[in-house]
Amino acid sequence: MDDILIKNVLLFNKKANVLIRGKRFCSVSAPADAQARQVIDGEGMAILPPFYNTHCHAAMTLLRGYADDMPLHKWLTEYIWPFEQKLTAADIREGSRLAVREMIKTGTVFFSDMYFDIEETAAVVQEYGMRAALGVTFMESHSKSQQQDKLNQLRNWVDPTGGRITLTVAPHAIYTVGADMLQLCSRTARDLGLKLHIHVSETSKEVEDCRREHGTTPVRYLDKLGVLGPEVVAAHAVHIDEEEADILAARGVTLAHCPCSNLKLASGTFPYKRALAAGCHVTLGTDGVSSNNNLDMREEMKFAALLAKGASGDPQTMPAHEALDIATRNGSEAFGIDAGVIAEGKLADAILIRLDVESMQPLHHLISNWVYAADSGIVDTVICDGRILMQNREFTKA
Ligand SMILES: [Zn+2]
Repeated sequence: MDDILIKNVLLFNKKANVLIRGKRFCSVSAPADAQARQVIDGEGMAILPPFYNTHCHAAMTLLRGYADDMPLHKWLTEYIWPFEQKLTAADIREGSRLAVREMIKTGTVFFSDMYFDIEETAAVVQEYGMRAALGVTFMESHSKSQQQDKLNQLRNWVDPTGGRITLTVAPHAIYTVGADMLQLCSRTARDLGLKLHIHVSETSKEVEDCRREHGTTPVRYLDKLGVLGPEVVAAHAVHIDEEEADILAARGVTLAHCPCSNLKLASGTFPYKRALAAGCHVTLGTDGVSSNNNLDMREEMKFAALLAKGASGDPQTMPAHEALDIATRNGSEAFGIDAGVIAEGKLADAILIRLDVESMQPLHHLISNWVYAADSGIVDTVICDGRILMQNREFTKA
């Protein structure tokens, strides 16, 4: 692990020399002549926390543009699932590679995934130096022996990167996983100290079907099963009433808000103000490329802010700094990664963005420009766990 000195970079509102030793930020006010094996000239750039994408299906990059402009149920059952049945492990590796490259290019260092053949995705994450929480996906349609294999995989997992990849237990949703399996997943996650990643209340159809089958709404149903707890990451949570927001907050559930996917599939509008008032922990995800159609968290951050303002009728809802926190430190915190802020002692995850571009000028307010004006093409350098993954927009992997 090389030491890195980033000289003359804009940190908050002033120029600084940022020193990274090993995996952590050693100093954010180092002398210009500090010794380091690698020196980056940060002149004309700002250092910011990178993105932590809390809901993704990385290999679905292979379905980019394959089926657009239709409702979720039809899209899923008539296009996505039949396509996915034909995917091989090699396909999943290539889809994951495309995803990982796109994520690094757009300033993301971590993603929480839910897919199949996770060893293929893990190999690519390891190769490119990112972080990931890879979901071992459970569905009723899998055979008993497949389910047993998945449980064994969770129990026997050894992280090949020594700390950058964890697994999560990922029951797909309440409409694809029955009560017994949901509870088995919950017990497994708690026993192994892992996160449980699940789609919750994404569409009104899911809520209506749940009422018909279980006599209650998805959040109440999961709570009745005892599944909700601080280890749960609930993707979407679009259709939640006030009491459900209170339940999610009380149980310490993390919400993965996916504004682009919700808008594109017209699934509904995440009630950000309600979730915030209840004290929910809100993070940001892209969902899969097939419903986004990219993995660009900067774009996602802008959509989140605009959607929250539009839906509440209040332009003060989700100000720029809050949108940035949701996309960065909140996601990092949710997954127990000691990063997400540029500060001494924290794990050295960072991006350097170019300021000498039209969309970043004039520089009245760095965060405002980054959230509302820029595009992710200005990400010049990406650092994860004290290692440079991209510099001058070129990947640095061996
Ligand atoms: Zn999803």
